[in-house]
Amino acid sequence: MIKAKNIHKSFGDLEVLKGIDLEVQPSEVVVLVGVSGSGKSTLLRCFNFLEMINDGEITIDGTTINHKKDNLSKVRAEVGMVFQHFNLFPHKTVLENIIEAPMQVKKKKKDAAVKHAKELLDKVGLADKADVYPNKLSGGQKQRVAIARSLAMEPKVMLFDEPTSALDPELVTEVLQVMKNLAEEGMTMVVVTHEMRFAREVADRIIMLDQGVIIESADPKTFFENPTNERTKQFIQLVE
Ligand code: ADP
Ligand code: MG
Repeated sequence: MIKAKNIHKSFGDLEVLKGIDLEVQPSEVVVLVGVSGSGKSTLLRCFNFLEMINDGEITIDGTTINHKKDNLSKVRAEVGMVFQHFNLFPHKTVLENIIEAPMQVKKKKKDAAVKHAKELLDKVGLADKADVYPNKLSGGQKQRVAIARSLAMEPKVMLFDEPTSALDPELVTEVLQVMKNLAEEGMTMVVVTHEMRFAREVADRIIMLDQGVIIESADPKTFFENPTNERTKQFIQLVE
């Protein structure tokens, strides 16, 4: 579903991604870990074409994207992204937040967009919140709306960048549960998170980034119990 070949990304003189090779299979859930500054967010942003890569190639579901030529808003629609901060439109209701992009970008008819939005709200457990404004929601509810909004574009891949990091601890579980359900339905996902229980339970593969390089890629059991890299071992001791 995602094929990244030799991705290089620099900001000025700072080389942040130093040749990343990564393939994500359909329905696979990859958890991406690494210390702060290792390049996790930058890599996700490259997958979503929010950042232009300096070298290498990214293929999404068989389509290789040329940053200079392609219609990025179209390919972006195929790759949903959920951020640490929810970025909901404050002056729109929950329902209006969800139908905005399908109507504007995909030219979906309002009736169809509303119907789909309600199904998605049901899926994230917020069927009763369609008509409220974001400021009436808890952080966990806002993040679930953000997930529903992203799903409304019917993406082929979902990227999550520390989706629970800004939440009070008691609100983390409800968001992780929605993500777990999504994984069980077969969504292809790349998740940056420090929630190691989620990684153990839901990930098919855990990848460790260190200074812009993948230093470990293994199934959860191997990752935690038998990591090969010394820095992975140190990381596991820190987070567990
Ligand atoms: P992580 O998500 O793993 O914490 P990031 O991908 O956010 O790491 O950042 C990796 C490095 O790239 C950091 O040193 C960060 O300061 C730098 N960086 C990220 N975005 C930019 C940017 N837009 N301009 C300049 N430097 C950036
Ligand atoms: Mg980050």
